[in-house]
Amino acid sequence: MRVDILGITVDTYSMQETVEQIRQAVEGQLQIRVVTANPEMIYASERNVRIKKLINSADIVTADGIGVVWAARRLGTPGLERVTGIDLVHTLFPIAHAGKWRIFFLGGKPGVAEQAANQVVRKNHGITCAVMHGYFSPDDEPGVLEKIRYFRPDVLLVGLGAPRQEYWLAEHPGLASVSIGVGGSFDALAGIVVRAPKRIQDLHLEWLYRLWKEPWRWKRQVVLPRFVIKVLWQGFWRKTP
Ligand code: UDP
Repeated sequence: MRVDILGITVDTYSMQETVEQIRQAVEGQLQIRVVTANPEMIYASERNVRIKKLINSADIVTADGIGVVWAARRLGTPGLERVTGIDLVHTLFPIAHAGKWRIFFLGGKPGVAEQAANQVVRKNHGITCAVMHGYFSPDDEPGVLEKIRYFRPDVLLVGLGAPRQEYWLAEHPGLASVSIGVGGSFDALAGIVVRAPKRIQDLHLEWLYRLWKEPWRWKRQVVLPRFVIKVLWQGFWRKTP
């Protein structure tokens, strides 16, 4: 089932169900694209038809952040589980380890994807990784594509930041069984960005912690109150016969 939030249809899969879909795709050699949709992306898609189509045409759209979970509840779908990019990959790695999957990490500053992959393989040595940083020029792109195709990944993790990673994945289909836009997850996996302590995550205040640690994010988070207003407005119209 999917819930419509400002025109973006978010899947109601739990984390376990999302991971199961991914496992089945890898084992069945299907091709699926996963978008982890956060409130900023959903808000931006209201004014950008192209990104809206890209997100809605993904095979799985997860609720990346408590703002999306809140919006779903306001719009009549309680109990949606938060499935962020970083939590998704953390849950996926033990399964990838058991299945001996091949994972390509594309994105992040030079050296970061490598550091992230090393950390992952240290704990999950069944996984084979290849990496490429995310600051390549259009001239370098054929080489990047060649490197990914040659590696033949089961899973392609693209951390170029949203919405660039969504455009990039839609422009280059068929590179892996499962392609996932993971934003800044490599920075977290590499230990460059430290996630909020579990207690803060449980209080649903990770966004505030992130803002404190990376104050430049205020420019992006400034759309959050507008997202809230738009969701309340959508709920109001839905209730009005
Ligand atoms: N990034 C990249 N290439 C670029 C611009 C950004 O690989 O041209 C990476 C950047 O290094 C960071 C990620 O994209 O690792 C974006 O992280 P951010 O936390 O801003 O993304 P979000 O998770 O909020 O989408």
